[in-house]
Amino acid sequence: SPRSGVDVVTEALAEVHGRYGSLSDGRVADYIPQLAFADRDCFGLALMSMDGHGYRAGRCGVSFTLQSLTKPFVLALALAELGPDDVGRSVGAEPSGEAFNAISLDAVTGRPANPMINAGAIAVTALVPATSPAERFSRILECLGRFAGRTLYVDEDVYRSEVETGHRNRALAYLMRGTGVLRGDPVQAVDTYFRQCSVRATVTDLAVMGATLANGGTNPVTGERVVPEPVALQVLSVMAMCGMYDAAGSWMLHVGLPAKSGVSGGLVAVSPARFGIALHSPLLDAAGNPVRGVAALRELSERFGLHLMHNA
Ligand code: GLN
Repeated sequence: SPRSGVDVVTEALAEVHGRYGSLSDGRVADYIPQLAFADRDCFGLALMSMDGHGYRAGRCGVSFTLQSLTKPFVLALALAELGPDDVGRSVGAEPSGEAFNAISLDAVTGRPANPMINAGAIAVTALVPATSPAERFSRILECLGRFAGRTLYVDEDVYRSEVETGHRNRALAYLMRGTGVLRGDPVQAVDTYFRQCSVRATVTDLAVMGATLANGGTNPVTGERVVPEPVALQVLSVMAMCGMYDAAGSWMLHVGLPAKSGVSGGLVAVSPARFGIALHSPLLDAAGNPVRGVAALRELSERFGLHLMHNA
């Protein structure tokens, strides 16, 4: 019997959730001590379409700290406020081929390679116009909330855990203060970045955030324009090149969608003009991407021809 599109999506999510939910390879990140408490069995998958239809499989209502998943959305805020030329003076848009926490600063310009690695993200966070650090963070939190379509909150325990252990990020900020890429107080800049990383959201929220980028910057659930269309395009381009750590190349080869992952096990991928899809599963592969999520999205991409370079 003919099946509706809704059934096809729901069934496909349930199927890959079932098939890959039992994968137990990978490790839970513990370099931020508080992250080690994550439930390794947790696995949720959600898709949000352009017409505001949500589809789910598994645990999508459990919130987790967004970590690096905030990077594309704060980049969007900075681009919307300052434009690409201004942002480009502080950070590049080239895949670094190095770890996310690498000291990846250009020898001539002092700029970090791209806004998806920590150095670049710290520089972008510091660019958000504000008269005080408190105001800067509240603008960031508010913007993340507009992408998600609801108010989001900081996990104070994870924030403290990051402050206590984030010496390398502080060192990156000081180096960028030295090259002139970062203005103002480096400790302050990293503090704002730690707060940003500690914002909690659910898989469902993250799917809406991705769908907002897919939809050219307008949240398909609330109808609110969060960022201008050219900004969404720029952010998706950076995600496509630099969003999946050192596996960005093989991800583009096999899945073919702009995406971003984070150390807490979240992943958001975007099918432009179609949908946002998000997942959470704390077991990470060697590149830092969620094992179950990468497997699930690879299958979905192949089965539904989601690859951007697909000739149809
Ligand atoms: N807060 C983490 C850090 O700065 C975020 C990194 C990540 O998700 N890759 O180390």
